[in-house]
Amino acid sequence: MMTIKGFVKNSLIEWEGNIAAIVFLSKCNLRCQYCHAPHLVNNPCELETIPVDVVLESISKNREWIDGVVISGGEPTLCDELEPLIKSFKELGVKVKLDSNGTNPDVIERFFENRLLDSIAMDIKAPLEEDKYNLVAGVKCDIEKIKRSIRLIMESGVENEFRTTVCPEFLDKEDILDIARFIEGADKYAIQQFRPIICLNNELLKVTPYPKEMLEDFAESAGKYVKKCWVRGENKEMAPVSGKQAGWLW
Ligand code: SF4
Repeated sequence: MMTIKGFVKNSLIEWEGNIAAIVFLSKCNLRCQYCHAPHLVNNPCELETIPVDVVLESISKNREWIDGVVISGGEPTLCDELEPLIKSFKELGVKVKLDSNGTNPDVIERFFENRLLDSIAMDIKAPLEEDKYNLVAGVKCDIEKIKRSIRLIMESGVENEFRTTVCPEFLDKEDILDIARFIEGADKYAIQQFRPIICLNNELLKVTPYPKEMLEDFAESAGKYVKKCWVRGENKEMAPVSGKQAGWLW
């Protein structure tokens, strides 16, 4: 059964350069301590399901000025009917971007092989070592699968972005540089500000985020390894500010 639990008819900020609708699918296999979507992760059954037809009708009606659809979550690759959903969007003539935590490389590979994606964004929660990754993700992760997703994305030729939410409780500058070195040569790497509002782990509400200037410093250093690195805050506007490829997206 399709589990669309959220739908935004149009957004100017979710997919750079595109006006996009956003659908949120329920369920996730991670329990990131800072997750801002506990409703999608913990008790999705309590949320109203939005019928696919309602979503398709809205996109079809707005087709003239909608460029694409962002499929987010939760973790969309857990949904058995994700592929038909993507195909339904494609049939309407809109592009599709997938947000993923990278834990299901087989699904990502199949979508690339079938040319179903126009863009993909993948979270990298921590440096690619078990202890740190498991701590941030809140569950035991298969690091090899996550590494495989990264490789698939980097070799795909599909527009892509990697991103890391930087909560001071778990990550410091050296961790960000470790990640940047792992994805050396990647097109885009977004350093996302941690926001102590609605977290899966309520204890994190007491954590003070890193100051903006510190994250800019992280981005400038990480930008030496990737083509473009910037800081993303609460208000997603693209505004590169300095250095080789560093910038601020707030
Ligand atoms: S932040 Fe983590 S737990 Fe929340 S939806 Fe994303 S991957 Fe799942």
